[in-house]
Amino acid sequence: MIIDAATGWIDGVRRVVSPNSDDRPPGTELSLIVVHGISLPPGQFGNGWIDRFFCNDLDVAADPFFATISDLAVSAHVLVARDGTLTQYVPFTQRAWHAGRSNYCGREGCNDFSVGIEPEGTDELPYGAPQYLALAVLVATLRRTYASLRSAKVVGHSDIAPGRKTDPGPAFDWRKLERLLEESNAT
Ligand SMILES: [Zn+2]
Repeated sequence: MIIDAATGWIDGVRRVVSPNSDDRPPGTELSLIVVHGISLPPGQFGNGWIDRFFCNDLDVAADPFFATISDLAVSAHVLVARDGTLTQYVPFTQRAWHAGRSNYCGREGCNDFSVGIEPEGTDELPYGAPQYLALAVLVATLRRTYASLRSAKVVGHSDIAPGRKTDPGPAFDWRKLERLLEESNAT
C-alpha cells in the first residue's frame, strides 16, 4: 500500500469524495488514529449506504433509521468493508468529521489531529479477519508515510468520547490488531 503523503490519498483505492471535510488548523500535525465502527442500516453490510451517508445523500424513505441521522454531516477518512476492501472519502491531509465532541489526553476536538477509520460492523458482531489485516496494513502505512504518526496511538471512538460513543465496541479485538501491527513492524 502506498499513500501519497502530499495529497493524502491512498494509491489505487476506491475513492468517494465526501464534502464533509475541511482544512486542519494551521500547523496541526497528525498524531492519533481513531478506529470506529459503522453499518447502515445498523447490522446490514455492503449496500452502499455508508458512501451515501458520507455524501449527505441518504434516502430517508429507504429505512426508518435513516431519518434519525440524515441531518448529520459526517465522514471518515477510510471505510474498511467486511471483505477488507478500502474506500477513501477524505485525504489524510484534510480534516474528516468523524470524532465529534472528543478528548484525547486533555486535548479536545480530535478531528483536528487524527485519522478516522471505520471498519464496517457493529459493536457486538465479530469483525472479520480481512478487516484486521487491512487495518493493520493501513495503520502501518500511515505510520511509515507521516513521521508525526510514527508513534501515534490507535484508539477507539469510545476512548475519546466515553459515555457518548461505544464504537468499535466489545466485538473489536484490539489484541489481534496489536499483534498484526507488531508483525508488520518486524518485517
Ligand atoms: Zn465512531
